[in-house]
Amino acid sequence: MIYKRSSELFVEAQKVIPGGVNSPVRAFKSVGGDPIFVKEAKGAYLYDEDGRKLIDYIASWGPMILGHAHKPVVDAVIAKAQKGTSFGMPTAIETEIAKLAISMVPGIDKIRFVNSGTEACMSAVRLARGFTKREKIIKFAGCYHGHSDSFLIQAGSGAVTFGSPNSPGVTRGTAKDTLLADYNSLDQVKDLFEANPNEIAAIIIEPVAGNMGCILPAEGFLQGLRELCDQHGAQLIFDEVMTGFRLAKGGVQELMDVRADIVTFGKVIGGGLPVGAFAARAEIMSHLAPEGPVYQAGTLSGNPLAMAAGLAMLQELNNDGEIFESLAQKTAYLHKGIKESLDRHNITYTINRIGSMISVHFAPDAVVDFKTAAAGDNETFKKFFHGLLEEGIYIAPSAYESWFLNNALSYEDLDATIAAIDKVAKTL
Ligand SMILES: *Cc1c(COP(=O)(O)O)cnc(C)c1O
Repeated sequence: MIYKRSSELFVEAQKVIPGGVNSPVRAFKSVGGDPIFVKEAKGAYLYDEDGRKLIDYIASWGPMILGHAHKPVVDAVIAKAQKGTSFGMPTAIETEIAKLAISMVPGIDKIRFVNSGTEACMSAVRLARGFTKREKIIKFAGCYHGHSDSFLIQAGSGAVTFGSPNSPGVTRGTAKDTLLADYNSLDQVKDLFEANPNEIAAIIIEPVAGNMGCILPAEGFLQGLRELCDQHGAQLIFDEVMTGFRLAKGGVQELMDVRADIVTFGKVIGGGLPVGAFAARAEIMSHLAPEGPVYQAGTLSGNPLAMAAGLAMLQELNNDGEIFESLAQKTAYLHKGIKESLDRHNITYTINRIGSMISVHFAPDAVVDFKTAAAGDNETFKKFFHGLLEEGIYIAPSAYESWFLNNALSYEDLDATIAAIDKVAKTL
């Protein structure tokens, strides 16, 4: 058994941590088996507790876009740590990273830093409600906006209706303010606006979905949402926690030339430390405390270590004019290799890709929303996942996840990955 040490560590972890993990998807529930414990990571590689080296396609679920332990980021954190790690008072570096982020992202004047993507999305919705003085929000089935109460709602049997909570602990009161639509269905959103006149504060959406595989907005979909929001006086919130600073400097707003009212960030913006942020035009952000009445706060928000990591990361991305193109080319190369291999072995599949995000679905039809993503064959995915793991390739332990490429991946790594996929595909 190659994962003896990881399995032992998992047994110990489960005694003191629920399910042995601090975030559920890490537990391998949907693929079976015990999770791999990581010892360290460098560049494109993870080194686990059993002494194996794995090529990493998760990048800590997105943040490590330049690879692990990237030197400028690590150096910035070490230098800051020696000068104190938290003060609960303003520091100059917060303004520095704010200015840089604002210069990279279209349509934002001010930004507030928090500690996670969850906090960013939760606060963005509160701000939209405070700004519009309305209570309801529209979200899309399969989109993930963190674990705060209003977002843990999914569509019941595909019906577009009042949401019901899909986690115990979320009240029906909260659930009823979250309305659901299918991703890419503009008609359902129109119907929701008509059924709830002057009640909808905001639409929140992953403008490219990255939490049910990688799903692209259909032509005109985001623009359609923009128009509906303008027509009905609602705020459009782009949750760019995954896509921000990954698909382009300015995220999907830049890439697809659509403007949101409020944008949320996380993952890449923290360079691997716990950071989230939300941003908007000054007119909207001025509603936030202490400038305005909408309350939002955090003891560790904007703390120097997190800001140093985030700033070093954003500087690298801002200064390197090639990075997003380089990542997109690597991802396209990988796509071609996977496609050729799965074709050769007569596997039924669909691949979605944009920039450095790619997902392989063992599904016969186009994957355009949660339903079509759920039509994928999970048994095949499990075999695929474990087969690749044996070959030293680490992809997300769930069929509902995208792969996130990092720029430390070399073409040799990609070739090794494609060869591993070819070997595993034979057994599917
Ligand atoms: C990861 C993610 C979140 C939640 O961020 P956390 O930092 O895990 O709280 C929110 N939205 C999207 C799109 C994400 O990918």
